[in-house]
Amino acid sequence: MTQTRPCWVEIHTRSFEENYRFLTGLAAPDVELLAVVKADAYGHGLALCAPAAMRAGARWLGVTSVEEGVAARAACPAARVLVIGGVYPGQGVDLVRHQLTPVVWDPVQIDELESAVRSVGDKALSVHLEIDTGMSRQGVDSQGLTQILQRFGHDSPLRLEGVMTHLFAADEADGRVTDDQLRRTGDFINQIEAAGIHADLLNVGNSAALLAGQAPVIAALAARHEMKALMRPGLALYGIASSYYPPFASAPPPSLLESNRKLKPVLSWKSQVTSVRSVPTGTVVGYNGTFVAIEPMRLALIAVGYADGLDRRLGNRFSLLVRGNKAPLIGRVSMDQAVLDVTDIPDVCAGDDVIILGQQDGERISVFDHAEAAGTIPWEIFTRIGSRVRRVETQ
Ligand SMILES: *Cc1c(COP(=O)(O)O)cnc(C)c1O
Repeated sequence: MTQTRPCWVEIHTRSFEENYRFLTGLAAPDVELLAVVKADAYGHGLALCAPAAMRAGARWLGVTSVEEGVAARAACPAARVLVIGGVYPGQGVDLVRHQLTPVVWDPVQIDELESAVRSVGDKALSVHLEIDTGMSRQGVDSQGLTQILQRFGHDSPLRLEGVMTHLFAADEADGRVTDDQLRRTGDFINQIEAAGIHADLLNVGNSAALLAGQAPVIAALAARHEMKALMRPGLALYGIASSYYPPFASAPPPSLLESNRKLKPVLSWKSQVTSVRSVPTGTVVGYNGTFVAIEPMRLALIAVGYADGLDRRLGNRFSLLVRGNKAPLIGRVSMDQAVLDVTDIPDVCAGDDVIILGQQDGERISVFDHAEAAGTIPWEIFTRIGSRVRRVETQ
């Protein structure tokens, strides 16, 4: 099909590559980066972003599931692919066949993987063990650790390559929770070493940790245990610098100031005007007539709705860009369409581009603007952009 409904995102893969290289600089010299491309590369399209990460020098990709891992393997035959969300019963064989690297923390996962490795006939499988240093989500606690470590004996086909944990408050400016998590991480590693097991990689830290300047701290912890550090940025790769709570007061870390300058948004989300109509005073607009014209108006119908990921809560309280001007969304956002007030914007006509997220003629709508209006966070805005919205690579 050559022409489709005009609602698409443009993915600037060169910016993605530049962001990756910039973050490598923040991590240097002692920390390697794993590019997190879970959830279809944060809605940006795995097939575009995973190869861009490889071009920029990444060796590791991170995905949520075995399914996503299979897609990453197809896009990047040479990558190491970490399956962050664990392996579910029945998925072990697919994981082994596609040479994915699982995160494990539960004996049930180890059972599944051992039998998969044996049934495929491979000799060994590298795994990363997640430890729970405070988030109470995934990860083994220090009591469960002893039992798990017994599963890495000489007769096991599983090799403990990495120790992983997730910093769940790296966006808190005072850093106290993170300090505490890193201290606990050290305790876990001591316990692992005491069991006679050495892991090569210490796999810790998201975008917020990297931008706040934690790379040297994590590298030092790794070095104390003769390990190498691996950090896992996601959002920053897509060009978004984390916000911190409360915001850094007088002296934000230099790495954050530099990130704010250097990171470039990768995604623009666009649609077009379908038709324009003039309406008299008293006209009601959209479901339930939540908007009533109190003067004659010009309305533009546009091809984007909540099924494309445009939050329904934005109706009557957000603007999009047309011809470089802010045009208010009026009435309720429908499933597949929405209406803009273009009364004050001259010459708007069918076929005009509409910027939902991105910039036009010096005006910009950011993912933070969407997140604030919808009462959520940038991650959710990106990952809700619908699968029917085409992802188009631009240079
Ligand atoms: C999503 C995720 C990341 C990346 O987080 P960002 O905040 O987007 O950088 C890192 N580690 C784990 C375990 C994740 O689930």
